[in-house]
Amino acid sequence: MASSVFFTHSHYSSSPSSSLFRLHRQLFLGPTSLRFSSSHVAPVAAMTTDSSAKVIDGKAVAKQIRDEITAEVSRMRESIGVIPGLAVILVGDRKDSATYVRNKKKACESVGINSLEANLPEDSTEEEVLNYISGYNDDPSVHGILVQLPLPSHMNEQNILNAVRIEKDVDGFHPLNIGRLAMRGRDPLFVPCTPKGCIELLHRYDVSIKGKRAVVIGRSNIVGMPAALLLQREDATVSVVHSRTSNPEEVTRQADIIIAAVGQPNMVRENWIKPGAVIIDVGINPVEDPNSTRGYKLVGDVCYEEAIKVASAVTPVPGGVGPMTIAMLLQNTLISAKRVHNFE
Ligand code: NAP
Repeated sequence: MASSVFFTHSHYSSSPSSSLFRLHRQLFLGPTSLRFSSSHVAPVAAMTTDSSAKVIDGKAVAKQIRDEITAEVSRMRESIGVIPGLAVILVGDRKDSATYVRNKKKACESVGINSLEANLPEDSTEEEVLNYISGYNDDPSVHGILVQLPLPSHMNEQNILNAVRIEKDVDGFHPLNIGRLAMRGRDPLFVPCTPKGCIELLHRYDVSIKGKRAVVIGRSNIVGMPAALLLQREDATVSVVHSRTSNPEEVTRQADIIIAAVGQPNMVRENWIKPGAVIIDVGINPVEDPNSTRGYKLVGDVCYEEAIKVASAVTPVPGGVGPMTIAMLLQNTLISAKRVHNFE
């Protein structure tokens, strides 16, 4: 599950302080169909050389999407008496995970999706967790299942995640979903939430993707790789930059569209950006800031102050991709319920 897989990645271990580390983890609200809404927030003069870029307002788009989900959930309930349900399994008493689960629950409630929660003690057995998954797999009122990660170290994460039925794998990380995403003529049941949120932002801001050069920086299973696949499905010509790329600036400078998902604060500088490019910055990096009362601030993988001068549109951090992730999770749960009940 995206929400939790983030926590196990190497860049977290080098986070500057434990409070920043905790904060970083709490920012992710969890970790979506290839169908995108036709409603748009505001057109972007993409690929132009405007001296000041438009800000892609992820918070506003996420709110719009949550409003749309609220309307659809209510239409479904009134038409066929079905309410979409999302079940979250939390094992142990980590405060960050508990906050994370609470946020998901609140988000569900805000759009009328039922949320179910199983809280198991730290010393539960793998079998006990599997029993809960099995129960939710068989429960027709549950349309999406998330296992909050990290799991206690005595449990085999892969075994547990594999037990979630693919029809309820709303995070979209099941290998079958990713395989379908990669194949022409095949459709995944769910698209992973964060990359789906990135593409949704491009759609809602009328950024044309077809035929454009896109560069994705980062190739993680949960963001970079599926983002590159999604862009390719939309007929962009895609390059992927990773830690072994010898000339990342040069490659990135070719891009009309940049999706940065690296986990390196301010890595993408002005000279990496082609004038007029559109930039989606997935990175959320807490950095120390003595001027802030909290002692830190959040920055993206892209140097925002420089990007805003060169790009035609750019997402801020925070308030860009972040709010989209949870909106996409809710959307995936709704999609799942509609699919099961054949509700158009
Ligand atoms: P990850 O699993 O650590 O992957 C990072 C990727 O960046 C890897 O593919 C790595 O290359 C590449 N990379 C690392 N250093 C690099 C460098 N110096 N130059 C070029 N590529 C480099 O991270 P992730 O989970 O994808 O997350 C990426 C960022 O997005 C993080 O800041 C994370 O906090 C943020 N995030 C935000 C959201 C949200 O909802 N907004 C959701 C998920 C993640 P290799 O493959 O070669 O190692």
